[in-house]
Amino acid sequence: MERVYLDNAATTPLCDAAAHAMEAFLRPGCEAPFGNANSLHSIGRDAFMALEDARMRVCRALQAQRPDEIIFTSGATEADNAALIGLSLAGREKSRRNGGRERATVVMSRIEHDAVLHTERMLRELGFSVRFVRNSASGRISPDALREALDETVVLVSIMAANNEVGTVEPIEELARVAHAGGALFHTDAVQALGKIDVPVRAWGVDAASFSAHKVGGPKGVGVLYLRAGTPLSPLMAGGGQERGMRSGTQNVAGIVGCAAAFEHAVSEQRAFAARTRALRDELYASLCARRGVVPSVSVPRGSEDFLPHMVNVCVRGVESQTMILQFDLKGFCVSGGSACSSNSLDPSHVLSALGIERNLAQGSLRISMGQDTTPNDIEAFIRAFAEVLA
Ligand code: PLP
Repeated sequence: MERVYLDNAATTPLCDAAAHAMEAFLRPGCEAPFGNANSLHSIGRDAFMALEDARMRVCRALQAQRPDEIIFTSGATEADNAALIGLSLAGREKSRRNGGRERATVVMSRIEHDAVLHTERMLRELGFSVRFVRNSASGRISPDALREALDETVVLVSIMAANNEVGTVEPIEELARVAHAGGALFHTDAVQALGKIDVPVRAWGVDAASFSAHKVGGPKGVGVLYLRAGTPLSPLMAGGGQERGMRSGTQNVAGIVGCAAAFEHAVSEQRAFAARTRALRDELYASLCARRGVVPSVSVPRGSEDFLPHMVNVCVRGVESQTMILQFDLKGFCVSGGSACSSNSLDPSHVLSALGIERNLAQGSLRISMGQDTTPNDIEAFIRAFAEVLA
């Protein structure tokens, strides 16, 4: 049976550009530099050249100012943790040195990915308090809401650029400005935004941003922390001092080269991808929500750019997500109930709860996320399968 993959927010297949770039590094006996990028000899230096070329390409894809603002990590989970913990520690230290009021409060939204949200416990153990900023029923965080959450104790604000379950796009540039006006640092998890909307990290004015290769056709286990030049960060990892001391550990050159190729490809395809999938998204929302008992998790006007173009999230009354996912799987469609991390849990998603969706309804959530290969025929076939599963 041919399968249709509609779970691209969870992960994506490797794109040709990334596979091609990595192949040379992964074939035994190949000419590509297998060396440790930190070794002094020529094989090490060759690996270093490949690493720095990838850093430059990622810098350009993210519209950063300088390649040394790009720190390679093992994924966005690590980048998020490094930012939340590392910026908070360094920022608090700076406030202590300045002799003013100590800054030891971290502000985040309730709709963040677990990689941000679950740093709460660690932050509290390190002596920080965590405060949540209010969001609207569509998951939007307004500059006014952020202003309300700020005071002179806030060291860091972390708000995602686009939500991974319902697709809400946040006004990052304005939010960063508000955080800075309040004297706080600003981090954004931009994992789901890359390749779907513009991610101009420098123009956004953020201090840090997290990205993941496998969400845009790159390999799993590779991520990026953008750290604006001059931003203080206490590194999470102690070790050999790689990545300018910000992330110790021998770099995964093959994965990083694949990551750079995937980022470039995602950015170059972004406009065409967004236009194509936005039309399919609108059609999906209209068709699915025309059925009795099906409601959109967020209200997405046709053509809206306030929500990611490739993602649809609906709730089906009286049916559990898991049941539907397995039924769709039997029919050859891969979809999810929300984030892949919580797909084994019967609890409704924390994102849908934060949007105010009642528990029973949220238990029947379904996320459909399109990718580079999704065709109008796939969507039509899914709409037919949806009718059958519901019946
Ligand atoms: N942040 C968001 C918004 C995500 O969607 C994901 C992936 O699920 C992550 C962070 C974690 O990324 P990674 O799988 O690279 O650790």
